Amino acid sequence: MQKDHILQAIALQIEAEIDRGISIWIDPAWNEPASSFLARAASSPRSSGAQSVRGQASATRSKGRQIPAARSKGRQIPAARSEGRQIPAARQAESRPSFSPPPPATGRDRDWKSKLEKLRQETLACKKCPLHETRTNVVFNSGSGKIPLVFVSEAPGANEDAQGEAFVGRAGDLLTKIIAAIGIDRRDVYICNVLKCRPPGNRNPMPDEIAACSPYLARQLEILKPRVICTLGLFATQLLLDTKAPIGKLRGRVFRYLETPLLPTYHPAALLRNPHLKRTVWEDVQLLRKILDGGIKKAGIEIQMTESKPAARPIPQSGDLFESS
Ligand code: SF4
Repeated sequence: MQKDHILQAIALQIEAEIDRGISIWIDPAWNEPASSFLARAASSPRSSGAQSVRGQASATRSKGRQIPAARSKGRQIPAARSEGRQIPAARQAESRPSFSPPPPATGRDRDWKSKLEKLRQETLACKKCPLHETRTNVVFNSGSGKIPLVFVSEAPGANEDAQGEAFVGRAGDLLTKIIAAIGIDRRDVYICNVLKCRPPGNRNPMPDEIAACSPYLARQLEILKPRVICTLGLFATQLLLDTKAPIGKLRGRVFRYLETPLLPTYHPAALLRNPHLKRTVWEDVQLLRKILDGGIKKAGIEIQMTESKPAARPIPQSGDLFESS
């Protein structure tokens, strides 16, 4: 696992603990709460920041401790009591998971990149639903898709519409951290939405828009042949699983989209609104990484549903995406 991935995992865990109301002190001698540490780490340049975070994270392992919020208010832990205090090895392992390099994609057509590009070009000219009239940019995806892991969300927001890329802005930054925390560079996965154009005012997608646009997603998934799909939030999850169940009942469980394992979790925007969900998502993405590495059987995971219906229409075969139009 690369150093910056380790740091991202530690940062995510610390943030989750803070969100749960637990005060974490990076170093009692500095009298510095973890929130301040994280802010400083985030504002540091990547190159030098990684080095300084490493040193401070090391201090956490050797000196840091957690104390209840009520007890910690305005109180400094005496250095003599905290010096040399060790976090048990089991807890260290839990907070610093180790990941090997993610597996490469297999089973794709040789020309999968050119097929995706051709499909992208088609969406750029698409006028199959009224959203083409209000979009600034078509948002086809983000990431290279080098790793066979695909994240699917609902639709572009204002930032995505402005920049033409999926998951930018605060939610995008958080997703980048979440992916990094399982030892993966966001640029290597594939992130896309059910709708490629922004619904005005971020309203929910309409049925006719979903019917018009979801074949693009189906085709993306067919070309990419992911080992695992992660749906982000209620809308994409319900659509791909053809269910009306709430996300709270679906998240963290493994389903299938056609033959591909599908793991739903919360949308990063939901985490920004409800930070206590970070721990839950952290558990979900660790499971996601297990499936990516070893598949369902190796991860010892039970499939909750044997099959899901593809969204809106059957997956079109190569070249016939718009035969009916
Ligand atoms: S949302 Fe999809 S179907 Fe509608 S115009 Fe955009 S690309 Fe075409």
